[in-house]
Amino acid sequence: MKSTPNPIVSISRRAAARLRQGHVWVYRSDLTGSDSAGPGSLVSVADERRNLVGTALYSSSSEIALRMISSHAVGASEFASLIRERIAKAVELRHKLVRDSNAYRLVFSEADFLPGLIVDRYNDLVSLQVLTQAMDADSARAAVVGALKELVEPTSIVERVETRIRELEHLPERQDALLFGMKTDTVIAMNGVQFKYSALAGQKTGAFLDQRENYAAAARYAHGRALDGFCYQGGFALHLARRCESVTAVDSSRPALEVAEENERLNHSAHGGREIEWIEANAFDLLKDQSTAGEQYDTIVLDPPAFAKSRRSLATALRGYKELNLRALKMLRPGGVLVTCSCSYHVGESDFLEMLRSAAADARRSPRVLEKRGQSQDHPVLLTIPETSYLKCLIVQV
Ligand code: SAH
Repeated sequence: MKSTPNPIVSISRRAAARLRQGHVWVYRSDLTGSDSAGPGSLVSVADERRNLVGTALYSSSSEIALRMISSHAVGASEFASLIRERIAKAVELRHKLVRDSNAYRLVFSEADFLPGLIVDRYNDLVSLQVLTQAMDADSARAAVVGALKELVEPTSIVERVETRIRELEHLPERQDALLFGMKTDTVIAMNGVQFKYSALAGQKTGAFLDQRENYAAAARYAHGRALDGFCYQGGFALHLARRCESVTAVDSSRPALEVAEENERLNHSAHGGREIEWIEANAFDLLKDQSTAGEQYDTIVLDPPAFAKSRRSLATALRGYKELNLRALKMLRPGGVLVTCSCSYHVGESDFLEMLRSAAADARRSPRVLEKRGQSQDHPVLLTIPETSYLKCLIVQV
């Protein structure tokens, strides 16, 4: 089958240079001319001299107008088989990398050369998210679901919808839904710890799969009296409970804590009868009150939500991180361990280290860095696409 040629989109010299360095995005301000490309269509990308740079997915609404998928010509009729091939490679990579878990990211968008597609495996369920016009096209969806059925053989495939992203991409509204199969709930296991996963009804659950290897790392150093400052459904707290004498876990979300308690029940036998104390509170207030009151801990985990959503909020974000880390460092007993994370891409590793250095100086402690960590390996980092690396996790000992 011979398909019609792709529309041609020309880009600025600067954008072409960036692509040659291995990045895959072209911003709308770098488009210099285009045939009429429809939302989500495959386009041929030409540089200022009209040479073909490659093939990209076009978005009519995003600031990122083009996401490259190949440095060669790819026709619309070849796109489905390209999707299948890349999902197969992504799945194979996880088979090599993932240990001790039946929950992990199978496809991580650009990092797996499938811009706009995220797929997670939760035991026998597969959950996918579509983030761009091109991946939302019926043919692309069919290729994705077909490949996942064949390669992963899940009981069900569910789609989780990010409403805000669909609005930004000018995509029609959709609800979370089953795309295949009937089952929506399961139990996952990572590092020997079990968690509920519920894709649709009621309190939706999920796990921060990118922290999976950091949970195991934190557990290696955890001891004594432990505090998990932003516990969500218990990711770190349940791992700490296997090693520590007591665990206090804090979150401002009651629904998250309710699931955390259910997760605790799933793992009760592994905790030697010890109970985790779950507290609904603002972690900033709790850390302030407890450090003022002279409370002490041997292990503290800080994994707050992303404070810097953009470059502009970096300074405010760093002040927030510093306040938390300063209080935590003050409360640690000698030999105590701090596991501190930032999932903001805009906070670079050097910013984060500098924040912690400054917090340590103010707290008059000189912590030793035990580990500098990032996201789990099933969230690959592409050296030439800095945006694929976002999670920082430092483990230090005072
Ligand atoms: N560590 C968790 C993930 C944390 S996500 C894990 O690995 O599973 C961030 C969490 O911080 C969310 O559950 C959110 O409800 C909570 N949160 C946000 N602001 C907070 C605040 N000021 N105090 C306490 N918790 C907060």
